[in-house]
Amino acid sequence: MGVIEPLRIIIPIIGLFVGSFANVLIYRIPRGEEWVVTPSHCVHCGKRLGVLELIPVLSWLAFRGKCHGCGEKISVRYPVVEILNGVLWYLCVRAIGPTAFLTPALLLTTALLVTAFIDWDTQEIPNGVHVFILIVAVL
Ligand SMILES: [Zn+2]
Repeated sequence: MGVIEPLRIIIPIIGLFVGSFANVLIYRIPRGEEWVVTPSHCVHCGKRLGVLELIPVLSWLAFRGKCHGCGEKISVRYPVVEILNGVLWYLCVRAIGPTAFLTPALLLTTALLVTAFIDWDTQEIPNGVHVFILIVAVL
């Protein structure tokens, strides 16, 4: 077993968690909300998410797609974005392997995923996203 084998498991799992952060960006960037410091919370009742509720995909399944606080439905899009990011990260590590290009490729992949969903929601791509993609692309 070479160095690539564990990476093909670890990178997609990290990708799921980064996909969870991608959901935060997709929701907050178009609304002009701060996205670095504010902890993850329910968009309906504002309840801060606990550790178990932050586990990608599994938390959505465990709580049957509903907020633990108010019982409002949480869109199936959240686990879908998490899974998509995990799958895309798997494909990156499979195609590129453990080279210097892997990290920029992963960042670019997630940036494009975030961009695609913001574009889908708003038919606009925020300037900050353009700048981020340009910087990563240059890397
Ligand atoms: Zn709630």
